[in-house]
Amino acid sequence: MNEAKIAAVTGANKGIGFEIASQLAALGVRVIATARDEARGKKALDALTAEGGSVIFHQLDVTEPESIERFRKFVEKEFRRLDILVNNAGVFLDKGVSGLEVGLDAMRGSMEANVYGPLALCQAFIPLMRKNGYGRVVNVSSHLGQLASMGASGLAYRVSKAAVNAVTRVLAAEVEGENILVNTMHPGWINTDMGGPKAPGTAAEGADTAVWLATLPDGGPSGGFFKDREPMNW
Ligand code: NAP
Repeated sequence: MNEAKIAAVTGANKGIGFEIASQLAALGVRVIATARDEARGKKALDALTAEGGSVIFHQLDVTEPESIERFRKFVEKEFRRLDILVNNAGVFLDKGVSGLEVGLDAMRGSMEANVYGPLALCQAFIPLMRKNGYGRVVNVSSHLGQLASMGASGLAYRVSKAAVNAVTRVLAAEVEGENILVNTMHPGWINTDMGGPKAPGTAAEGADTAVWLATLPDGGPSGGFFKDREPMNW
């Protein structure tokens, strides 16, 4: 019998993360939807549960080591494995701000949420994936982190997304051949609180490539950067 896969999604209380959780649940994956704020997370859980599927909630602030450790212990105790980790939570603290003016607080805040958090979660869960001989890690990045098309403004966000792409490459190389596939992706310009109302894409469209990467078959790509299920330039 094929047991249902277990997935953790960060920042699942709204936007693209909510949709990733919803689409994974619709595929029969048991989803642990996480959010830093308990009340916002539980409200999202009610909406996800109403859609059907197996979803539970756990608090997780990706910038808090104690919160990550509590979450790791919970997963280990309750499930003894984690098959899928989607590092979706993110912040864009310097939208429209010149790189000549961006403050160190925005630099640090962007690195904490967009790079160190995802890295810490990989360090918490890849050992468990290794034990189980199965893992899919998806880092939700951005084309703004693409070195090939790097442009002006949003330096803190751009640097954090370029860095999480590098984290993806290194970790993918370290687990090569262990059936743990580590990839990064750009969701498109998506109508969420972060993307804003003028964005053309829906959250469901933004979630699609992440869900595809989260459910790759054995032997699928690893260490890649994707958009619309296709590789993109670094
Ligand atoms: P969003 O609607 O603003 O959602 C961001 C999510 O991240 C929220 O759930 C937020 O929680 C959570 N979050 C932020 N800091 C956190 C922390 N320290 N711990 C746990 N959760 C935290 O944005 P989105 O558009 O869905 O973005 C999702 C991902 O897609 C991000 O990584 C973003 O960089 C990326 N992305 C988005 C676009 C776009 O056009 N929208 C384009 C490229 C990439 P709260 O509700 O508590 O704030």
